[in-house]
Amino acid sequence: MPYTIARYAGYCAGVRRAMEIAFQAAREAREMNVKCYSLGELIHNPEAVSALQKEGVVSISRVEEAEKGSIILLRSHGVSPQVEEQCRRQGLIIRDTTCGSVRALHKIVRESGEAGIPVILVGEPEHPEVQGTAAWCPGECHIVQNEQDVDALPPMDKALAVSQTTFSLSAWEKILRRLEARFPRLDARCTICPATQMRQREAEALAAKVDAMVVVGGRSSANTRKLYEVCRAICPRTILVERAAEIPARRSPWKTSKRPWFASARAKPLRAPWYKSPTTKCASTSATSPMA
Ligand code: SF4
Repeated sequence: MPYTIARYAGYCAGVRRAMEIAFQAAREAREMNVKCYSLGELIHNPEAVSALQKEGVVSISRVEEAEKGSIILLRSHGVSPQVEEQCRRQGLIIRDTTCGSVRALHKIVRESGEAGIPVILVGEPEHPEVQGTAAWCPGECHIVQNEQDVDALPPMDKALAVSQTTFSLSAWEKILRRLEARFPRLDARCTICPATQMRQREAEALAAKVDAMVVVGGRSSANTRKLYEVCRAICPRTILVERAAEIPARRSPWKTSKRPWFASARAKPLRAPWYKSPTTKCASTSATSPMA
């Protein structure tokens, strides 16, 4: 059975950089004889997290858990200025893996808040990136994740709309239409990162051409979930797996599939025992990845 690996499968630049910084930080910690922590799991990939644990990176959920003088890794999602400050106050050595796209978003909301223009942040309210970003805005910041939330917003003369870097493009476009109808003086900037946009566009295009799809990524990754939803809406025979062992050993549920497709959230090669035919590979598997 021929299969295709998506062109934009694999680690994105932001996650690759975060992993490199983390391995380097772990080495430094060993040399300095201090602990190395990550504030939350560095990426939503159990195998990568376990590799980091082997290097001595301990995942903690609160800054208070870190010993003074140790190294702390801030995830590519970014954190609030208050958390950064708390790390400094606690005498921790910060290794910041915040992705450039997230940093750019922080700057946009901070400047808008400073200029007195309310920010409408389109994203998942519980997501750490969204919470961290909202905290960078010194003024009014409203988080919306659907059209109903838009209807509930207070009246605003001017406003700036931005999006979580890993938000669904189609959902953003839908919400944006509603925002523009409500706020004629809206300044809208789509801040979904290029890696996420490329992956989602490719997913939609490929979903229409294949018989079955496998989305590979962490179940707790917002990016993976969105990719899965995008694929499943178009191709009902879509499954989400975290590791190669979860790929069904027998051909079900794709008994009649001629051409399944892999959207990989990681750089790891994918293997299923029933795949015997040569792989159709759109390109390399190292371009993008859900983290956030
Ligand atoms: S998915 Fe986008 S925002 Fe998240 S780490 Fe990768 S490049 Fe950065």
